[in-house]
Amino acid sequence: MTGYKTIRLRRGKEESLLRFHPWVFSGAIDHADTDIEEGDTVRVVDSEGRLLGVGHYQIGSIAVRMLDNADTEIDEAFFARRLSEAWRLRTALGIKSSHTDAFRLVHGEGDFLPGLVVDIYGPTAVVQAHSPAMHFARNIIASALVNLPGAGIENVYYKSETTLPYKASLDPQNDYIVGSFAGDIATENGLKFHVDWLKGQKTGFFVDQRDNRALLERYSHGRRVLNMFCYTGGFSVYAMRGGAEKVTSVDSSAKAIALTRANVELNFPGDTRHDAAAEDAFRFLADMETGAYDLVVLDPPAFAKHRSAIRNALRGYQRLNARAIEKMAPGSFLFTFSCSQAITKEQFRLAVFSAAAQTGRKVRILHQLTQPADHPVNIYHPEGEYLKGLILYIE
Ligand code: SAH
Repeated sequence: MTGYKTIRLRRGKEESLLRFHPWVFSGAIDHADTDIEEGDTVRVVDSEGRLLGVGHYQIGSIAVRMLDNADTEIDEAFFARRLSEAWRLRTALGIKSSHTDAFRLVHGEGDFLPGLVVDIYGPTAVVQAHSPAMHFARNIIASALVNLPGAGIENVYYKSETTLPYKASLDPQNDYIVGSFAGDIATENGLKFHVDWLKGQKTGFFVDQRDNRALLERYSHGRRVLNMFCYTGGFSVYAMRGGAEKVTSVDSSAKAIALTRANVELNFPGDTRHDAAAEDAFRFLADMETGAYDLVVLDPPAFAKHRSAIRNALRGYQRLNARAIEKMAPGSFLFTFSCSQAITKEQFRLAVFSAAAQTGRKVRILHQLTQPADHPVNIYHPEGEYLKGLILYIE
């Protein structure tokens, strides 16, 4: 017995856990030991007292994130085991190579570590905790990361100031837990990128678009490419290598535009095919000349962060896509994405369908895209599938 405190579920509420879904909702709880605190590891039992497993407790609608279905001690050895399973999968995928050293090692529930994200940039791991208990475990996680055989992790940067529930008052400090700054250039499919994990969004780079960027490269030859919501310019740099005639990168953030310019310069010094504008997407599309681009990328931030925002978000996707489709040159490609977890594939497709219908143009779906294999989806936790994309052909 681990000696963890116990949470007992209401009758029948064990069913989703028996089907390996990793969340216990607060409404499913019948009784909790009185001195349980946010961030504790707890044992979860059914209404008859039978053990269902152990997990991390927090205050909120998701009350427990399950880690294992036995009475397992959640210590450094546990993290070492889970991390080595995660690393074994990445090794099997062949992701880390002389061409690529930026990838996701831990994708929360998809790697049986709910509440934890770890992205790797060369010798540096950037760790994000999304739950108080993962925050409390940050030091043993860091230690397990640098001791992970074969992964070559030397530095661990902890970055959870914006990912932890703010009500938990944990006051997390973004800082190195192990090592220190060891260069900021990562490689993806042979292209180089400055990754700003200190000040950038998320862990500094959107590794989840790797495969989709590679696909865009194939379609870029001779095209005039608009990369809307460019952030660090990932799609732009691939388009340049793909032989685009010109590439325009747009983002409302001046910092993102500076990063994009730096990344284009890093790979294609002095190349005049690229220009960039710090501008609002809707403003840019309103001012854009009709027919100016024949390949457009729309990769906006999550319009719906919560379920309550779904309706407005769908309207936002529809409006954005309609504005682009109506102005694209005949015979052009649209790469359009949604990274809102709260929005399903079907809902997103319907929003893009409505946008196309509004413009009255002939539109066909060529590819249906999703997140790459280093962002696996636990089949018992379909909520883990968040990235949706369509490549459309606009007559
Ligand atoms: N495509 C990028 C990731 C995009 S992240 C990649 O492959 O890495 C979303 C970006 O949208 C952020 O950089 C943010 O600054 C930008 N953004 C948010 N609102 C915007 C708006 N209204 N107009 C233009 N850019 C916006």
